[in-house]
Amino acid sequence: MRQIIIIGSGPAGYTAAIYAARANLSPLLIASSVEAGGELMKTTEVENYPGFAEGIQGPELMLAMQAQAERFGTEIVLDDVVKLELEGEVKRVTLGNGDVHEALTIVFATGSAYRKLGLEDEDRMSGHGVSWCATCDGFFFRQKTIAVVGGGDSAMEEANFLTKFADKVYVIHRKDTLRASKTMQDRAFANPKIEFLWNKEVAHIYGDELVTGIGVVDVTDGTETTLDLSGLFIAIGADPRTHLVHGQLTLTAEGTVAVDGRSSRTNIPGVFAAGDVIDPTYRQAVTAAGSGTVAALDAEHYLAALPKEVLARAEVQPATV
Ligand code: NDP
Repeated sequence: MRQIIIIGSGPAGYTAAIYAARANLSPLLIASSVEAGGELMKTTEVENYPGFAEGIQGPELMLAMQAQAERFGTEIVLDDVVKLELEGEVKRVTLGNGDVHEALTIVFATGSAYRKLGLEDEDRMSGHGVSWCATCDGFFFRQKTIAVVGGGDSAMEEANFLTKFADKVYVIHRKDTLRASKTMQDRAFANPKIEFLWNKEVAHIYGDELVTGIGVVDVTDGTETTLDLSGLFIAIGADPRTHLVHGQLTLTAEGTVAVDGRSSRTNIPGVFAAGDVIDPTYRQAVTAAGSGTVAALDAEHYLAALPKEVLARAEVQPATV
């Protein structure tokens, strides 16, 4: 029996682990069977995380957070959670390998998953020219023509990064103004390899084995044109990963886990949520890290307020708050 189990290994999960471990709660952190570190493992330069005046590579930042969490005694398991039983005093976490872990508190910090366009051939062509990760796949598009879909910071970042490899990068956006921050916009506008296609939506992906082109519809007049290209990067945002808690935790209208005010408290006592999974608005590494702090402190206070008999029954030592 654990005092605390943290699910997720992004900035929220690791920061919760650092705080919980330093409070002698001996946290168990469930990372992922694929790769620990979350979405920042797929980014390049992070320029806006405080403390790194020259910027830091996303994976380097996440490995540093992991090392910091482990330094204070966090135990990390690389597996996926397949089932969560959150009601009652003792929470049960079932992993992909069949192991079941129990804890008095849970920090749910599963982040968000990339959105899809919903096109017929999107999944089939994934890995064959369709990608959600420029840093993972950009290298395959040396001297090619490619496109990025989206008008947010992610799309601008991906487009700029991809010009390192590709000869030409179209940015396809469904409106005539961008959602991205001014800095990111200016950088993309100044890049001679980037051409913007405004008021356009991708309607088709062409190609048998590999992408050879796309069909693009103008949303103002409905006309469709074909673009010959070999890569399509989709950067249209992300949705919170909540499938494990459907029917247990209350969700907001935006689909994030509902928390009580500025706290991390969910509708179930002892269950706390943090990071992108509760945040439809800011979704920054540093806000996620702050949110992880809140969750660890909330869990610590919850444990400290539990009757001694409960802690004794659970065979855990009282928390030292
Ligand atoms: P956003 O939600 O900010 O932007 C998504 C973009 O994709 C919007 O322009 C949206 O269009 C468009 N879009 C959504 N659905 C579709 C669809 N079905 N078809 C076509 N276009 C679609 O997501 P991001 O991933 O860009 O950013 C998420 C958060 O992460 C933001 O807070 C951002 O600031 C942050 N971020 C920060 C970075 C940095 O500072 N270095 C880097 C990357 C992300 P519309 O505008 O019409 O809604």
